[in-house]
Amino acid sequence: MASAAALSYSSYRTYLECPLRWKYLYVEHRPELPRGYFTFGRVIHSVLEELVRPFVVAAPRRPGSGDGQKTLDDWSPDPAAGSAPRPLNPEELLREYDRAWSGTGYSSPEEEARYRALGRELLLRFLDQFVRNPSTPVAVEEHLETRWDGIPIHGYIDRIDRTPTGGLEIVDYKTSRELSAEDARDSDQLSIYQVLVEGNYAEPVERLTLLHLRSLVPHRSPARARTALDPLHVRLGMVADGIREQAFEPTPGRHCARCDFRTICPEFKTVPAPEGRRLAALVDRFESLRSDERRLEGELARAAEELHRAAEELGLHRVPGTRSIAVRRREEAWQYSLDAVRPLLAGAGVADRLGHETASDVRRLLRDAEVPAELRRRVAETGSRRVRWYWELENGADGSR
Ligand code: SF4
Repeated sequence: MASAAALSYSSYRTYLECPLRWKYLYVEHRPELPRGYFTFGRVIHSVLEELVRPFVVAAPRRPGSGDGQKTLDDWSPDPAAGSAPRPLNPEELLREYDRAWSGTGYSSPEEEARYRALGRELLLRFLDQFVRNPSTPVAVEEHLETRWDGIPIHGYIDRIDRTPTGGLEIVDYKTSRELSAEDARDSDQLSIYQVLVEGNYAEPVERLTLLHLRSLVPHRSPARARTALDPLHVRLGMVADGIREQAFEPTPGRHCARCDFRTICPEFKTVPAPEGRRLAALVDRFESLRSDERRLEGELARAAEELHRAAEELGLHRVPGTRSIAVRRREEAWQYSLDAVRPLLAGAGVADRLGHETASDVRRLLRDAEVPAELRRRVAETGSRRVRWYWELENGADGSR
């Protein structure tokens, strides 16, 4: 069985996109090619962590959630400094940036230089804003775990701030080019972070924020209501079930363009040369049989129809051939318009009697003595009967099967 380890947002998203890619990454631990924009994101995150961490004032935790209870009273300034923390100055910040820099994954020295300049600019602007308007962090780059109604989840939160009203604000840094308010409103990542923070902190989560680092615009959304989180919980449950059942089918799509596993993925893997000719001949044969199948299906349907018309005319159900007997069978099925049935039942206050809303549920309801006869009659009127005739062959002209 695959591991039932806790799901992170990126693991959940990877599985939803392609379960096979999830298996390559999380079961087989195959490495991916480094990419410059990921390296860049990691470097920026680590420098911001250095900048903000001295300002962290821990917030009360839920009992048993790791760090134990800490409160504002537990915070004391760095004794060496003897005063409140001071932010790095621009030179210190850039020194930290140079120390953290990594050139891994960039496609060219020019690309690396462009990113490096962008990082400098972005960090200096962040510092400027941070000095003028310091945030009130209670945690930075914190790893949290919890169980969400039975599903273990975990994640690293970039920053948790205290809001002016004493609640918590989850802040996720984004180095991407574009970001919008809808991204914050619809973000499953922020929803998962909310559940993680609520599972670990005593104070309520009030705001969820994607901070666009290129513009320093915070895209905020209020914390989600519990009911609004239900669909995400269902999707997480489906992912957890799929992993437990080892459902790792490839799901090709546009995302394959940036997948590093195309050479081993069955959807893209090429046929080994020695097998090429044999399999090509097999495919050609399959194709020609498939077209024979379609032609024969058409001929079969025409012969059955002709037999049916003759049998109707002559009032026959059994027609002998020279080797078998063709026997005409009748199949009957009732169909109901659920769009018509639902309002009838709702109007009579018995909507819950429709079960799974299949045709057999409706038929059961029609036999239900507790449903008023008039209502049953009206439901029955929404039905239509479908009759199908078909032929079976009995072997031997003597009628034996
Ligand atoms: S190439 Fe596409 S289908 Fe294959 S593993 Fe990667 S994402 Fe999945």
